[in-house]
Amino acid sequence: MAVLTLAPLAAFTDNYIWMLHDGSQALVVDPGEAAPVRAALDAAGLRLAGILVTHHHGDHVGGLLDLQPRLQGQVWGPAREVMPLPFVPCKAGDSVELLGQRFRVLDIPGHTAGHIAFHLAEPSDGSAPILFCGDTLFSGGCGRIFEGTPAQMWDSLQSLAALPGNTRVCCAHEYTLSNLRFAQVIEPGNAELRDYRSWCEAQRADGQPTLPSSIAQELAINPFLRCAQPAVRAAATQHQALAEDADGVSVFATLRQWKNDFR
Ligand SMILES: [Zn+2]
Repeated sequence: MAVLTLAPLAAFTDNYIWMLHDGSQALVVDPGEAAPVRAALDAAGLRLAGILVTHHHGDHVGGLLDLQPRLQGQVWGPAREVMPLPFVPCKAGDSVELLGQRFRVLDIPGHTAGHIAFHLAEPSDGSAPILFCGDTLFSGGCGRIFEGTPAQMWDSLQSLAALPGNTRVCCAHEYTLSNLRFAQVIEPGNAELRDYRSWCEAQRADGQPTLPSSIAQELAINPFLRCAQPAVRAAATQHQALAEDADGVSVFATLRQWKNDFR
């Protein structure tokens, strides 16, 4: 069985278009622009077998029309959102067969109302699971809530947090360092967070991505997945005078609003 290669293609200033290929066929996720995809396909002599889209924002779909002539397959996207070209509508429980792999679709509303994720639980080459989560989960942070509610976003993040720890988390933006600066304000005593930030700083200084992350890594350092931790609760309650027994959603909503205003 062919080995699968997973790679982030840099786009715009801080987007990643994820590519997965088996040496002959490729899929890409959220092609906000076409040029980086065409270049990667040409460089490795790959056929574009399919495109996955997590949500309707322009920096995730802007390259679709330009890629259409290269596409020898379909586009799979969120059933509850509008896209610039015909696509196969996907919702929770659906699966997508592509490159001989089966991706399970998850509904993860919050950033947008119809945002979905694609989870490959068992890559055929025996490598770790893969999650394409768009703008919902970032390393050290999470997406802004544009169309949903904090409770929806919280539920979405909880469903991602429940995936196997070794799942490779393919986020659509390189926001890690900025997120970790905020995370350390929330949890200054988290040693794993400190070490991870050092590693990420070295990666970026070297021009390398900090991604993919993993679910286990995020559970250890991402405050938005750690709302039940005493230190995170304490920081949130102190910031916004929350009740001692505030629930996870309230802690989460406080952190999200705090991060919106954080410089
Ligand atoms: Zn977005």
